[in-house]
Amino acid sequence: MPADPMPAISTVPPLPQQPPRPIGRGRLFVLQTGLVTTALTLVAVYLLSRWDEDVNVMGWYFWWIVPAGALLVGLAAGSGYGLASRWMGVKIGHRLVLTILALPIGAYAAAQYIEFRSMHLVYEDTLEPVGFWYYFHAATMAWSWQERGGVAGEPFGMWGYLFRLLEVTGFVAGGLVAPLLAMAQPYCDACQRYKKTKELGLLPASVAPRESDEKDDDARATYAAEQRVALDAGTALYDRLGELAAAGDIAGFRTAFETFQDDEDQRAIAALPIRIKLQLPYCPTCYHATLEGSLVAGHGENAKVELLPTAPVAPAVAAELTRPTTSATTTIHSTTT
Ligand SMILES: [Zn+2]
Repeated sequence: MPADPMPAISTVPPLPQQPPRPIGRGRLFVLQTGLVTTALTLVAVYLLSRWDEDVNVMGWYFWWIVPAGALLVGLAAGSGYGLASRWMGVKIGHRLVLTILALPIGAYAAAQYIEFRSMHLVYEDTLEPVGFWYYFHAATMAWSWQERGGVAGEPFGMWGYLFRLLEVTGFVAGGLVAPLLAMAQPYCDACQRYKKTKELGLLPASVAPRESDEKDDDARATYAAEQRVALDAGTALYDRLGELAAAGDIAGFRTAFETFQDDEDQRAIAALPIRIKLQLPYCPTCYHATLEGSLVAGHGENAKVELLPTAPVAPAVAAELTRPTTSATTTIHSTTT
């Protein structure tokens, strides 16, 4: 295919320049927001338990051993780290994640201590105040499953510490979900912001399934051969699009993709047994971008996804492909398959 000799760089709007933001303050904001959601969550759990003694969210377990309640509470507590990271465009690096790992352990301990202090426990005979560690040990040993009708079962004894450990682990693990999700997002280091992802659409990588006689070996062999050819053609086209995008050849890119552009084509491709999903994670500031393709086989829950090699995309092409437009020729498809 002849490449456009003049890549359409002139159509690209001037790229805005933004001064880099100070990093330290952003990290502090992430930590503060996480601490706020942690405190709010623990207060909510505490109020729930005060409202009804039978409601102990942290004590919800799946299959006797999976601390579902603690995971859930941790998830809510840690949501602030992820949200603030998105808002501020602060990358959650390894050091920040270590801090985020340590803070909920401190928060858990503080919550235990505050709850203990609020009870003002004294020994029955001497009226001396009960020490925290005595209380903690006694409370842990006294844990039991709540049986039907809200009756407490046999106390765990020393096994209570195993459930203490499960509870803390669940709480900390739940708290890491939002930060780890944020970490997995594509990020532009130069601009210190998260990238956006544009769905470019689907490429065919197989032929439509057809009714054929099970016993007809020739027909089956022909179909299998057609599938192989279609798969090779699909991946070859993906490679070609990657080359054009890297070279800044927006016209060539459009021409190569044009055949599959309209909604009807896209719907037909979505129904094929195998297709290639095209995505463009890009920085909305500097248009640093990559072309990502995933080979999707099957549909729904049984779909298998295989990532294809990514290609760097020239900023001019990324800017053009992500430019909001109403023109029919430049419509970019958003498909969910
Ligand atoms: Zn950038």
